[in-house]
Amino acid sequence: MSQERYSLAVIFANSRMLRILGQSTSCACAKYPPLELSRDQIDKRIKATKNILRHLDLRGESPKGHSLFQCKSCKQFWQLSNAWNWGGKNYLFKVPDIETSDWIDNPYISPADMTIYSASMEEYFRKNKFKESDNACKIENCNKKSLSNNVLCKEHFIESLQKIGLLPQRPQGRMFAPYI
Ligand SMILES: [Zn+2]
Ligand SMILES: [Zn+2]
Repeated sequence: MSQERYSLAVIFANSRMLRILGQSTSCACAKYPPLELSRDQIDKRIKATKNILRHLDLRGESPKGHSLFQCKSCKQFWQLSNAWNWGGKNYLFKVPDIETSDWIDNPYISPADMTIYSASMEEYFRKNKFKESDNACKIENCNKKSLSNNVLCKEHFIESLQKIGLLPQRPQGRMFAPYI
């Protein structure tokens, strides 16, 4: 082998080794965009969660069973939550940077909860068409019109159904971009 070809071979071998080393230490965070609010995407993320988790450090756990993680390499924060409607499996989603104590007080809203909530509300609105009357909503300080055949405006009527459990509650937690 000529000297020149030999050095090329060494450079090639070295760059390949660096690439392999790079792969084993770098994280997978950039590969995963913010979670889309669809059943399909949540399914996929449940499957990817074990792989993403390999690069993460646990930062805290909330009383309601959420966990906060941070990537060892790029410092991206992630939350692990339970997807109740997906057989109770856990899944990871990216969240904004946060102090662990603030997060424990009020973890981020789970995108799976948002997905289920908006799906059931959409279904409800598809089945129930609302018409406004000329009267004012009877809730004090509300300046909206009440619904026909009702003393409440649409928002307050929905709220009253949520209170008595006839419609799902708005999911609890800290809202965050890009869902705001
Ligand atoms: Zn990362
Ligand atoms: Zn009202």
